[in-house]
Amino acid sequence: MSKYWSKTTASLTPYVPGEQPKDRNIIKLNTNENPYPPSEAVLQALRSAVDDSLRLYPDPHGSRLIHAIAQTYGVAVDEVFVGNGSDEILAFAFQAFFDHDQPVLFPDVTYSFYTVYADLFRLPYTAVPLDEHFQIVPESFFIPNGGVIVPNPNAPTAIHLPLSEVRKLLDKNTEQVVILDEAYIDFGGESAIPLIHEYPNLLVVQTLSKSRSLAGLRVGYAIGPPELIEGLNRIKNSFNSYTLDRLALAGAEASFADKTHIQENIMRIVSTRDWTTAQLSELGFQLTPSTANFLFVSHSTVPAQRIFQKLREHGILVRYWPKARIDNHLRITIGTDDEMQKLIEAMKVILKEG
Ligand SMILES: *Cc1c(COP(=O)(O)O)cnc(C)c1O
Repeated sequence: MSKYWSKTTASLTPYVPGEQPKDRNIIKLNTNENPYPPSEAVLQALRSAVDDSLRLYPDPHGSRLIHAIAQTYGVAVDEVFVGNGSDEILAFAFQAFFDHDQPVLFPDVTYSFYTVYADLFRLPYTAVPLDEHFQIVPESFFIPNGGVIVPNPNAPTAIHLPLSEVRKLLDKNTEQVVILDEAYIDFGGESAIPLIHEYPNLLVVQTLSKSRSLAGLRVGYAIGPPELIEGLNRIKNSFNSYTLDRLALAGAEASFADKTHIQENIMRIVSTRDWTTAQLSELGFQLTPSTANFLFVSHSTVPAQRIFQKLREHGILVRYWPKARIDNHLRITIGTDDEMQKLIEAMKVILKEG
């Protein structure tokens, strides 16, 4: 606390990102990063972007990147927005679309940035309970609201909401913006992007951080009707015209040109996910059905917090939240086959100790 802080600053409870240990030998299964390197084409594009042109500001519109994204998804360029990670786009969207007179709705177990943004922008919100299996129940979002945001697949539950259920959300919430945060959609889910031409209030947000192995580049994008994209641009251009630097633009554009790299990595991660799921089930863990690059697990006899601490002693980081409903769960990112084998070996030791 400082006397120099504004009331807003003093009242905040900032988001706490997962730990980034300095020790390279730690097995890092705590922040849903991709265990495989980015595409070689991306690295090449980044290297070539390091030249004299860095003295110039980047393209404030990110036109070439927007074009590449529009082509990839078969949408128009005025239906695409790019930003410094999808977190930034979500922050812009909260400001651009959500209403101060009605609560913003999101699941009670979800990405913890949503409450942080709601508090920062002084938006009232209601955490809508998931059912006992951590499933989203669209009907429970049929209450008066000033906007809806749902991750699909949800985090940290890993559960994917089928498009038929997403449609229910949209059919009953037509007067305010519905945001689908599809950070993990490439790992097996069905994207709502095709629905933007049916629902003028739908914004879909995705990121290069997970499936494209580029968490360090900080690039995300939103796809939605032109009016919503214009709303995001109004906020962005009232804040910072150059949210993406020259390197980020060059690397991200190259990522969309390399279609095989992402497909191969997704296949590898999905197959490792299946293997790990089977192994953990055999060890007495309950798992939600994952359509993401992480697992949400709970053990029948050993408390999650103890497993979390012991894994740490084994040099393995996973994510644990001492929060209502999920304080006996762990979120485990899918790493390489070798990392997951080490995880399973460590689990065997830890469970034996009880
Ligand atoms: C990782 C994640 C993001 C943020 O992604 P960035 O593009 O790296 O900012 C957004 N939403 C959810 C649900 C995530 O898990």
